[in-house]
Amino acid sequence: MTLATDFEWYDLELAEPFGISRGTTTVSENLVVRIEDPAGNLGVGGAAPADYYSASRERITDALPALLAAVEDCDPHDRQRIARRLADAAGGPTAHPGARAAVSIALADLAAKQIEMPLYRLLGLDPGRPVTTSFTVGIDDTDRMAERAARAAETYPILKLKLGTDRDREIVRAVRDRVPDATIRVDANGAWDADEAVAMSRFLDDHGIEFVEQPVPAADLAGLARVGEAGPLPVAADESCVVPDDIPRVAEAADIAVLKLTKSGGVCPVLRMCHAARACGLDVMLGCMTETNAAIAAAAHLTPLADYADLDGALLLAEDVFGGIEMSGGGIDLSRVDRPGTGACER
Ligand SMILES: [Mg+2]
Repeated sequence: MTLATDFEWYDLELAEPFGISRGTTTVSENLVVRIEDPAGNLGVGGAAPADYYSASRERITDALPALLAAVEDCDPHDRQRIARRLADAAGGPTAHPGARAAVSIALADLAAKQIEMPLYRLLGLDPGRPVTTSFTVGIDDTDRMAERAARAAETYPILKLKLGTDRDREIVRAVRDRVPDATIRVDANGAWDADEAVAMSRFLDDHGIEFVEQPVPAADLAGLARVGEAGPLPVAADESCVVPDDIPRVAEAADIAVLKLTKSGGVCPVLRMCHAARACGLDVMLGCMTETNAAIAAAAHLTPLADYADLDGALLLAEDVFGGIEMSGGGIDLSRVDRPGTGACER
């Protein structure tokens, strides 16, 4: 079977400037891959590859023809072979994870559409395990963050607060003041050293925070472990947890593995990491970038494997070019999803 492949870039404006400890963005560059079989079934996949993982539009645009050529004679159901071919064509298991993710998602969407099933059913996952996604409040002026948190909490019961400024305590106090009942997680994106992070863990615990994500830089696994041992809060590893090999090391240092299709190269690597994480005693949070529903909808189908979801990427866009899985109030309930594939559809 020969598949017709194509890709396109979209610059999607964010509803609000999105600040994290490494900088602020107002536009999200999104790659969309389309793969069509001879019967006219069309699979779509997306990714917003991050500069942090050495992605750039130019490098990915250069690499994509080889990635697409590597899968055009594949059966979309051959997930394991597809993952291997994509890694080989990219130049190794850590190369071009965002581009591999977009291709892998398009093929998973296509495979599920060929048998007219939602993706979660193709994967044999239990739709009776609904989760609620967090909604992210990015770094900004303290008052604006508190205001944004208050507005978000009217719709979303779980907030994720980005930290890593010189006024983190002030931000937490101001936000907690405005949303006394919301579940709040924080993500420092590696901004603190281990001593600071231990002190922050105590402070955050006093303010009813649920857990802390990537408190110290990605490579500092000893620091990550110390935050979990000396501080009261559970620790989630995101930037420290990129490829399957990272899982056993992360399990020694953290409580929760943050898994993302775009970070780790698509459906097959993330499924592998999910099962490895469980076997190593880690909880799993499925996360995303600020990206289109062509990416997010696929991740939503994996949520029965997760304890936590942070899949608000498309909710942070001013306007998405794709519709996806219904997430009213942050709830992701696959038992209500009956469209074949991932459910991402062009608007
Ligand atoms: Mg994170």
